[in-house]
Amino acid sequence: MEMDLGMVNPIEYELDGIIYVEGNCKKCGEKVVTELDDEE
Ligand SMILES: [Zn+2]
Repeated sequence: MEMDLGMVNPIEYELDGIIYVEGNCKKCGEKVVTELDDEE
């Protein structure tokens, strides 16, 4: 994976079949959650 999510300490988890990445914003340190739309 060569994704720059712009976040620190990203954690990947799955919820109801959807993959989320949760971390802290590199700039402001705020909590960020990104939904990965990974179609197969
Ligand atoms: Zn930010």
